Amino acid sequence: MEHKAEIISVGTELLLGNIVNTDAADVAAALSELGINTYYHTVVGDNPERLKAAVEIAKSRADIIITTGGLGPTYDDLTKQTLAEAFGKKLIFHPDEADKIRGYFEKMGRSMTDNNLQQAELPEGCTILDNSCGTAPGCAFEAEGCHVLMLPGPPRELRAMLRGAAMPYLQKLSGQQLYSKNIRIFGMGESAVEDKLRDYMNSLTNPTLAPYALTGEVRLRVTAKAESEAEADEMMAPVIEKVYEAVGDYIYGVDVDSLESAVFALLKERGLTMACAESCTGGLIAKRITDLPGSSAVFRGGVVSYATEVKADVLGVPKDILDEHGAVSEPTARAMAEGARKLMKTDIAVSTTGVAGPDKDERGNEVGTVYIAVATEGETVCRKLHCGNDRERVRTVAAHNAFDMIRRLLSK
Ligand code: ATP
Repeated sequence: MEHKAEIISVGTELLLGNIVNTDAADVAAALSELGINTYYHTVVGDNPERLKAAVEIAKSRADIIITTGGLGPTYDDLTKQTLAEAFGKKLIFHPDEADKIRGYFEKMGRSMTDNNLQQAELPEGCTILDNSCGTAPGCAFEAEGCHVLMLPGPPRELRAMLRGAAMPYLQKLSGQQLYSKNIRIFGMGESAVEDKLRDYMNSLTNPTLAPYALTGEVRLRVTAKAESEAEADEMMAPVIEKVYEAVGDYIYGVDVDSLESAVFALLKERGLTMACAESCTGGLIAKRITDLPGSSAVFRGGVVSYATEVKADVLGVPKDILDEHGAVSEPTARAMAEGARKLMKTDIAVSTTGVAGPDKDERGNEVGTVYIAVATEGETVCRKLHCGNDRERVRTVAAHNAFDMIRRLLSK
Protein backbone atom coordinates (compact mmCIF):
# COMPACT_ATOMS: atom_id res chain seq x y z
CA MET A 1 0.00 0.00 0.00
CA GLU A 2 1.20 3.50 -0.87
CA HIS A 3 1.40 5.60 2.28
CA LYS A 4 1.04 9.36 2.49
CA ALA A 5 2.89 11.00 5.34
CA GLU A 6 2.58 14.45 6.86
CA ILE A 7 5.02 15.94 9.33
CA ILE A 8 3.66 18.38 11.91
CA SER A 9 6.35 20.29 13.78
CA VAL A 10 5.12 21.95 16.93
CA GLY A 11 6.87 25.02 18.32
CA THR A 12 6.35 28.76 18.39
CA GLU A 13 10.15 29.19 18.11
CA LEU A 14 9.91 27.60 14.65
CA LEU A 15 7.17 29.99 13.53
CA LEU A 16 9.19 32.96 14.71
CA GLY A 17 12.27 31.83 12.86
CA ASN A 18 14.26 31.52 16.09
CA ILE A 19 15.28 28.00 15.18
CA VAL A 20 15.45 26.09 11.94
CA ASN A 21 13.23 23.06 11.49
CA THR A 22 15.97 20.45 11.31
CA ASP A 23 13.64 17.88 12.87
CA ALA A 24 11.33 17.98 9.86
CA ALA A 25 14.33 17.57 7.55
CA ASP A 26 15.55 14.56 9.52
CA VAL A 27 12.13 12.93 9.57
CA ALA A 28 11.60 13.61 5.86
CA ALA A 29 14.99 12.07 5.02
CA ALA A 30 14.14 9.01 7.10
CA LEU A 31 10.77 8.63 5.36
CA SER A 32 12.35 8.90 1.96
CA GLU A 33 14.91 6.30 2.97
CA LEU A 34 12.01 4.00 3.82
CA GLY A 35 10.30 4.69 0.51
CA ILE A 36 7.35 6.47 2.18
CA ASN A 37 6.01 9.55 0.38
CA THR A 38 5.81 12.77 2.36
CA TYR A 39 3.21 15.16 0.98
CA TYR A 40 3.11 17.95 3.54
CA HIS A 41 5.24 19.62 6.22
CA THR A 42 3.20 21.71 8.63
CA VAL A 43 4.53 24.01 11.34
CA VAL A 44 2.25 25.13 14.12
CA GLY A 45 2.88 27.08 17.34
CA ASP A 46 2.37 25.90 20.91
CA ASN A 47 -1.36 26.43 20.72
CA PRO A 48 -3.83 23.58 21.28
CA GLU A 49 -6.64 24.88 19.03
CA ARG A 50 -4.39 25.47 16.05
CA LEU A 51 -2.56 22.18 16.60
CA LYS A 52 -5.92 20.39 16.72
CA ALA A 53 -6.95 22.10 13.48
CA ALA A 54 -3.67 21.11 11.84
CA VAL A 55 -4.21 17.50 12.92
CA GLU A 56 -7.74 17.47 11.47
CA ILE A 57 -6.37 18.66 8.13
CA ALA A 58 -3.55 16.12 8.26
CA LYS A 59 -6.06 13.32 8.99
CA SER A 60 -7.96 14.21 5.85
CA ARG A 61 -4.96 13.92 3.55
CA ALA A 62 -2.42 11.58 5.16
CA ASP A 63 -2.38 8.14 6.71
CA ILE A 64 0.89 8.64 8.57
CA ILE A 65 1.18 11.69 10.82
CA ILE A 66 4.47 12.35 12.54
CA THR A 67 4.75 15.17 15.07
CA THR A 68 7.95 16.66 16.42
CA GLY A 69 8.27 18.64 19.65
CA GLY A 70 6.03 19.48 22.53
CA LEU A 71 6.47 16.20 24.41
CA GLY A 72 8.27 17.72 27.37
CA PRO A 73 7.07 18.51 30.87
CA THR A 74 6.37 22.23 30.53
CA TYR A 75 2.93 23.85 30.24
CA ASP A 76 3.38 24.62 26.55
CA ASP A 77 4.20 21.02 25.72
CA LEU A 78 0.80 19.97 24.53
CA THR A 79 1.32 17.61 21.63
CA LYS A 80 0.35 14.42 23.43
CA GLN A 81 -2.80 15.80 25.02
CA THR A 82 -3.95 17.40 21.79
CA LEU A 83 -3.25 14.41 19.58
CA ALA A 84 -4.83 11.99 22.04
CA GLU A 85 -7.92 14.18 22.14
CA ALA A 86 -8.04 14.51 18.36
CA PHE A 87 -8.14 10.71 18.07
CA GLY A 88 -10.46 10.17 21.03
CA LYS A 89 -7.84 8.49 23.19
CA LYS A 90 -7.24 8.81 26.93
CA LEU A 91 -3.80 9.39 28.39
CA ILE A 92 -2.74 6.54 30.66
CA PHE A 93 -0.02 6.75 33.30
CA HIS A 94 2.80 4.23 32.74
CA PRO A 95 4.62 3.42 36.00
CA ASP A 96 7.51 1.77 34.10
CA GLU A 97 8.10 4.94 32.12
CA ALA A 98 7.92 6.99 35.33
CA ASP A 99 10.66 4.78 36.82
CA LYS A 100 12.80 5.33 33.73
CA ILE A 101 12.36 9.10 34.05
CA ARG A 102 13.28 8.97 37.77
CA GLY A 103 16.31 6.85 36.91
CA TYR A 104 17.39 9.33 34.24
CA PHE A 105 17.30 12.22 36.72
CA GLU A 106 19.22 10.21 39.33
CA LYS A 107 21.88 9.29 36.77
CA MET A 108 22.26 12.95 35.76
CA GLY A 109 22.35 14.01 39.43
CA ARG A 110 19.41 16.36 38.89
CA SER A 111 16.29 16.71 40.93
CA MET A 112 12.98 15.88 39.35
CA THR A 113 9.78 17.85 39.71
CA ASP A 114 6.34 16.27 39.61
CA ASN A 115 5.49 17.68 36.22
CA ASN A 116 8.26 15.53 34.76
CA LEU A 117 6.05 12.57 35.52
CA GLN A 118 3.50 13.89 33.06
CA GLN A 119 5.86 12.54 30.46
CA ALA A 120 4.92 9.04 31.60
CA GLU A 121 1.32 9.65 30.53
CA LEU A 122 0.78 8.23 27.07
CA PRO A 123 -2.20 7.60 24.80
CA GLU A 124 -3.98 4.33 25.54
CA GLY A 125 -2.89 1.35 23.50
CA CYS A 126 0.19 3.07 22.07
CA THR A 127 3.60 1.63 21.31
CA ILE A 128 6.22 3.45 23.39
CA LEU A 129 9.21 4.77 21.46
CA ASP A 130 12.22 4.78 23.75
CA ASN A 131 14.14 8.01 24.30
CA SER A 132 17.79 6.99 24.66
CA CYS A 133 19.06 10.59 25.01
CA GLY A 134 16.46 12.30 27.20
CA THR A 135 13.39 11.84 29.33
CA ALA A 136 10.32 12.32 27.15
CA PRO A 137 9.32 9.01 25.58
CA GLY A 138 7.79 9.11 22.13
CA CYS A 139 4.81 7.04 21.13
CA ALA A 140 2.96 5.60 18.18
CA PHE A 141 -0.63 4.44 17.75
CA GLU A 142 -3.14 3.64 15.08
CA ALA A 143 -6.58 5.20 15.02
CA GLU A 144 -9.14 6.20 12.41
CA GLY A 145 -7.03 4.67 9.64
CA CYS A 146 -4.04 6.81 10.58
CA HIS A 147 -0.69 5.92 12.06
CA VAL A 148 0.41 8.63 14.47
CA LEU A 149 3.97 8.95 15.74
CA MET A 150 5.05 11.60 18.25
CA LEU A 151 8.73 12.41 18.52
CA PRO A 152 10.60 14.81 20.84
CA GLY A 153 11.82 18.25 19.75
CA PRO A 154 15.50 18.32 20.77
CA PRO A 155 17.31 17.27 17.58
CA ARG A 156 19.69 14.87 19.31
CA GLU A 157 16.79 13.05 20.96
CA LEU A 158 14.77 13.09 17.77
CA ARG A 159 17.57 11.58 15.69
CA ALA A 160 18.26 8.83 18.19
CA MET A 161 14.55 7.96 18.43
CA LEU A 162 14.11 8.02 14.68
CA ARG A 163 16.89 5.52 14.08
CA GLY A 164 16.30 3.45 17.20
CA ALA A 165 12.52 3.16 17.34
CA ALA A 166 10.51 5.16 14.80
CA MET A 167 12.13 3.87 11.61
CA PRO A 168 11.81 0.21 12.63
CA TYR A 169 8.12 0.91 13.42
CA LEU A 170 7.57 2.59 10.05
CA GLN A 171 9.49 -0.09 8.23
CA LYS A 172 6.92 -2.64 9.40
CA LEU A 173 4.14 -0.45 8.02
CA SER A 174 5.74 -0.06 4.65
CA GLY A 175 6.21 -3.83 4.52
CA GLN A 176 9.31 -3.38 2.38
CA GLN A 177 12.88 -3.85 3.24
CA LEU A 178 15.11 -1.20 1.71
CA TYR A 179 18.83 -1.61 1.31
CA SER A 180 21.17 1.03 0.03
CA LYS A 181 24.76 1.67 -0.86
CA ASN A 182 26.50 5.00 -1.18
CA ILE A 183 28.89 5.66 -4.02
CA ARG A 184 31.22 8.48 -3.01
CA ILE A 185 32.50 10.80 -5.71
CA PHE A 186 35.05 13.57 -5.53
CA GLY A 187 36.29 15.98 -8.16
CA MET A 188 33.12 16.15 -10.22
CA GLY A 189 30.16 18.44 -9.48
CA GLU A 190 26.63 17.22 -8.89
CA SER A 191 25.35 18.59 -12.19
CA ALA A 192 28.19 17.00 -14.16
CA VAL A 193 27.49 13.66 -12.50
CA GLU A 194 23.78 14.03 -13.21
CA ASP A 195 24.50 15.00 -16.77
CA LYS A 196 26.36 11.76 -17.36
CA LEU A 197 23.81 9.59 -15.60
CA ARG A 198 20.45 11.38 -15.94
CA ASP A 199 18.89 9.05 -18.53
CA TYR A 200 20.11 5.99 -16.71
CA MET A 201 18.80 7.31 -13.37
CA ASN A 202 15.41 8.08 -14.88
CA SER A 203 15.15 4.62 -16.37
CA LEU A 204 15.56 2.89 -13.00
CA THR A 205 12.72 1.94 -10.67
CA ASN A 206 14.15 -0.76 -8.46
CA PRO A 207 16.94 -0.23 -7.57
CA THR A 208 16.88 3.56 -7.75
CA LEU A 209 19.86 5.86 -8.07
CA ALA A 210 19.82 9.39 -6.63
CA PRO A 211 22.49 12.06 -6.19
CA TYR A 212 23.12 14.10 -3.04
CA ALA A 213 25.55 17.03 -2.93
CA LEU A 214 27.78 17.46 0.11
CA THR A 215 30.37 20.23 0.58
CA GLY A 216 32.69 19.77 -2.39
CA GLU A 217 31.62 16.22 -3.13
CA VAL A 218 28.77 14.09 -4.40
CA ARG A 219 27.13 10.99 -3.01
CA LEU A 220 25.12 8.70 -5.25
CA ARG A 221 22.77 6.45 -3.37
CA VAL A 222 21.62 3.16 -4.84
CA THR A 223 18.54 1.81 -3.08
CA ALA A 224 16.93 -1.56 -3.66
CA LYS A 225 13.71 -3.00 -2.28
CA ALA A 226 14.29 -6.67 -1.73
CA GLU A 227 13.53 -9.63 0.48
CA SER A 228 17.07 -10.05 1.74
CA GLU A 229 20.36 -8.21 1.78
CA ALA A 230 21.91 -10.78 -0.54
CA GLU A 231 19.17 -10.25 -3.09
CA ALA A 232 19.55 -6.46 -2.79
CA ASP A 233 23.32 -6.73 -3.28
CA GLU A 234 22.75 -8.73 -6.42
CA MET A 235 20.30 -6.13 -7.72
CA MET A 236 22.59 -3.21 -6.91
CA ALA A 237 25.79 -4.68 -8.36
CA PRO A 238 25.02 -3.92 -12.05
CA VAL A 239 23.95 -0.36 -11.14
CA ILE A 240 27.20 0.26 -9.30
CA GLU A 241 29.09 -1.19 -12.25
CA LYS A 242 27.32 1.18 -14.61
CA VAL A 243 28.20 4.16 -12.40
CA TYR A 244 31.84 3.03 -12.39
CA GLU A 245 31.77 2.90 -16.19
CA ALA A 246 30.48 6.49 -16.32
CA VAL A 247 32.48 8.24 -13.60
CA GLY A 248 34.79 5.58 -12.19
CA ASP A 249 37.83 7.82 -12.11
CA TYR A 250 36.16 10.08 -9.57
CA ILE A 251 34.81 7.37 -7.27
CA TYR A 252 36.76 7.03 -4.08
CA GLY A 253 34.72 4.26 -2.58
CA VAL A 254 31.41 2.57 -2.00
CA ASP A 255 30.06 2.75 1.55
CA VAL A 256 33.25 4.40 2.82
CA ASP A 257 32.75 7.22 5.30
CA SER A 258 35.01 9.88 3.85
CA LEU A 259 38.02 10.63 1.66
CA GLU A 260 40.30 10.33 4.67
CA SER A 261 38.92 6.86 5.47
CA ALA A 262 39.70 5.82 1.90
CA VAL A 263 43.25 7.19 2.27
CA PHE A 264 43.66 5.57 5.68
CA ALA A 265 42.62 2.17 4.30
CA LEU A 266 45.03 2.47 1.35
CA LEU A 267 47.96 3.53 3.55
CA LYS A 268 47.29 0.74 6.00
CA GLU A 269 46.98 -1.87 3.27
CA ARG A 270 50.35 -0.84 1.84
CA GLY A 271 52.06 -0.32 5.21
CA LEU A 272 52.83 3.33 4.37
CA THR A 273 53.01 6.42 6.57
CA MET A 274 52.08 10.03 5.98
CA ALA A 275 52.71 13.48 7.41
CA CYS A 276 51.43 16.93 6.60
CA ALA A 277 52.58 20.53 6.42
CA GLU A 278 49.59 22.81 6.56
CA SER A 279 49.27 26.50 6.05
CA CYS A 280 45.76 27.57 5.04
CA THR A 281 44.10 24.38 6.33
CA GLY A 282 45.48 25.14 9.80
CA GLY A 283 45.64 21.54 10.98
CA LEU A 284 42.40 20.31 9.40
CA ILE A 285 44.11 17.51 7.47
CA ALA A 286 45.80 16.28 10.66
CA LYS A 287 42.50 16.53 12.53
CA ARG A 288 40.58 14.61 9.93
CA ILE A 289 43.02 11.75 9.75
CA THR A 290 43.45 11.56 13.53
CA ASP A 291 39.66 11.47 13.94
CA LEU A 292 39.92 7.90 12.64
CA PRO A 293 40.58 5.25 15.26
CA GLY A 294 43.89 3.48 14.60
CA SER A 295 45.32 6.36 12.59
CA SER A 296 48.60 6.22 14.54
CA ALA A 297 49.53 3.27 12.34
CA VAL A 298 49.74 5.54 9.30
CA PHE A 299 49.95 9.15 10.48
CA ARG A 300 53.19 10.42 12.00
CA GLY A 301 52.58 14.11 12.48
CA GLY A 302 51.94 17.50 11.07
CA VAL A 303 53.32 21.03 11.13
CA VAL A 304 51.01 24.01 10.97
CA SER A 305 53.42 26.31 9.20
CA TYR A 306 51.36 29.45 9.04
CA ALA A 307 54.15 32.04 9.15
CA THR A 308 56.64 32.21 6.30
CA GLU A 309 59.55 31.83 8.77
CA VAL A 310 58.11 28.53 9.99
CA LYS A 311 57.92 27.28 6.40
CA ALA A 312 61.61 28.17 6.11
CA ASP A 313 62.96 27.30 9.56
CA VAL A 314 60.95 24.18 10.41
CA LEU A 315 60.21 22.68 7.01
CA GLY A 316 63.36 23.91 5.30
CA VAL A 317 61.66 25.69 2.40
CA PRO A 318 64.61 27.48 0.70
CA LYS A 319 64.61 31.22 1.26
CA ASP A 320 65.15 31.98 -2.42
CA ILE A 321 61.98 30.03 -3.32
CA LEU A 322 59.99 32.05 -0.79
CA ASP A 323 61.56 35.33 -2.01
CA GLU A 324 61.08 34.61 -5.66
CA HIS A 325 57.67 32.88 -5.71
CA GLY A 326 56.05 33.82 -2.40
CA ALA A 327 54.46 31.64 0.28
CA VAL A 328 51.41 30.86 -1.85
CA SER A 329 52.99 29.25 -4.89
CA GLU A 330 53.64 25.89 -6.47
CA PRO A 331 57.40 25.80 -5.67
CA THR A 332 56.68 26.59 -2.00
CA ALA A 333 53.95 23.91 -1.78
CA ARG A 334 56.33 21.36 -3.29
CA ALA A 335 59.16 22.32 -0.95
CA MET A 336 56.83 22.19 2.07
CA ALA A 337 55.71 18.65 1.24
CA GLU A 338 59.25 17.48 0.56
CA GLY A 339 60.46 19.14 3.76
CA ALA A 340 57.70 17.58 5.86
CA ARG A 341 58.45 14.17 4.38
CA LYS A 342 62.10 14.44 5.39
CA LEU A 343 61.40 15.98 8.76
CA MET A 344 58.88 13.36 9.82
CA LYS A 345 60.50 10.47 7.96
CA THR A 346 57.37 9.27 6.18
CA ASP A 347 56.61 7.67 2.84
CA ILE A 348 54.23 10.44 1.86
CA ALA A 349 53.71 14.05 2.91
CA VAL A 350 51.08 16.51 1.83
CA SER A 351 51.19 20.28 2.04
CA THR A 352 48.71 23.12 1.65
CA THR A 353 49.42 26.78 1.15
CA GLY A 354 46.79 29.26 0.08
CA VAL A 355 44.79 32.37 0.71
CA ALA A 356 41.89 31.57 3.06
CA GLY A 357 40.65 35.17 3.07
CA PRO A 358 39.16 37.59 3.72
CA ASP A 359 41.79 39.55 1.69
CA LYS A 360 44.10 38.82 -1.23
CA ASP A 361 47.70 38.13 -0.22
CA GLU A 362 50.53 40.62 -0.78
CA ARG A 363 51.36 39.12 -4.17
CA GLY A 364 47.80 39.56 -5.40
CA ASN A 365 46.74 35.90 -5.14
CA GLU A 366 42.94 35.85 -4.99
CA VAL A 367 41.12 34.53 -1.94
CA GLY A 368 40.59 30.80 -2.40
CA THR A 369 43.81 30.22 -4.35
CA VAL A 370 45.37 27.10 -2.84
CA TYR A 371 48.36 24.98 -3.85
CA ILE A 372 48.49 21.42 -2.61
CA ALA A 373 51.50 19.20 -3.07
CA VAL A 374 52.06 15.55 -2.31
CA ALA A 375 55.62 14.26 -2.03
CA THR A 376 56.62 10.62 -2.28
CA GLU A 377 60.04 9.09 -2.66
CA GLY A 378 60.08 9.26 -6.45
CA GLU A 379 57.96 12.30 -7.25
CA THR A 380 56.12 15.36 -6.02
CA VAL A 381 52.84 16.38 -7.59
CA CYS A 382 51.05 19.69 -7.17
CA ARG A 383 47.49 20.91 -7.76
CA LYS A 384 46.33 24.51 -7.93
CA LEU A 385 42.78 25.22 -6.83
CA HIS A 386 40.28 28.04 -6.65
CA CYS A 387 38.09 27.22 -3.69
CA GLY A 388 35.76 30.24 -3.56
CA ASN A 389 35.87 32.98 -0.99
CA ASP A 390 34.43 31.49 2.16
CA ARG A 391 37.15 30.74 4.73
CA GLU A 392 35.54 27.57 6.03
CA ARG A 393 34.83 26.28 2.56
CA VAL A 394 38.38 27.03 1.37
CA ARG A 395 39.73 24.88 4.19
CA THR A 396 37.26 22.04 3.72
CA VAL A 397 37.73 21.87 -0.05
CA ALA A 398 41.53 22.14 0.26
CA ALA A 399 41.60 19.28 2.78
CA HIS A 400 39.30 17.19 0.52
CA ASN A 401 41.70 17.77 -2.38
CA ALA A 402 44.73 16.86 -0.29
CA PHE A 403 43.20 13.48 0.56
CA ASP A 404 42.03 13.02 -3.02
CA MET A 405 45.55 13.57 -4.34
CA ILE A 406 47.00 11.03 -1.93
CA ARG A 407 44.27 8.56 -2.86
CA ARG A 408 44.96 8.99 -6.56
CA LEU A 409 48.68 8.52 -6.07
CA LEU A 410 48.13 5.37 -4.03
CA SER A 411 45.58 3.97 -6.49
CA LYS A 412 47.90 4.26 -9.47
P1 ATP B 1 11.75 18.74 26.03
O1 ATP B 1 11.58 17.44 26.76
O2 ATP B 1 13.19 19.17 25.97
O3 ATP B 1 10.79 19.83 26.44
P2 ATP B 1 10.06 18.57 23.69
O4 ATP B 1 9.75 17.33 22.94
O5 ATP B 1 8.97 19.15 24.52
O6 ATP B 1 11.38 18.33 24.51
P3 ATP B 1 10.20 21.18 22.62
O7 ATP B 1 9.99 21.69 24.01
O8 ATP B 1 9.16 21.41 21.62
O9 ATP B 1 10.50 19.63 22.65
O10 ATP B 1 11.56 21.68 22.06
C1 ATP B 1 12.75 21.54 22.81
C2 ATP B 1 13.89 22.17 22.03
O11 ATP B 1 14.16 21.36 20.90
C3 ATP B 1 13.56 23.54 21.43
O12 ATP B 1 13.86 24.60 22.28
C4 ATP B 1 14.47 23.56 20.22
O13 ATP B 1 15.76 23.97 20.60
C5 ATP B 1 14.49 22.13 19.78
N1 ATP B 1 13.51 21.90 18.74
C6 ATP B 1 12.19 21.72 18.88
N2 ATP B 1 11.57 21.50 17.71
C7 ATP B 1 12.55 21.53 16.77
C8 ATP B 1 12.54 21.35 15.37
N3 ATP B 1 11.43 21.07 14.69
N4 ATP B 1 13.74 21.44 14.71
C9 ATP B 1 14.86 21.70 15.41
N5 ATP B 1 14.93 21.87 16.73
C10 ATP B 1 13.79 21.78 17.42
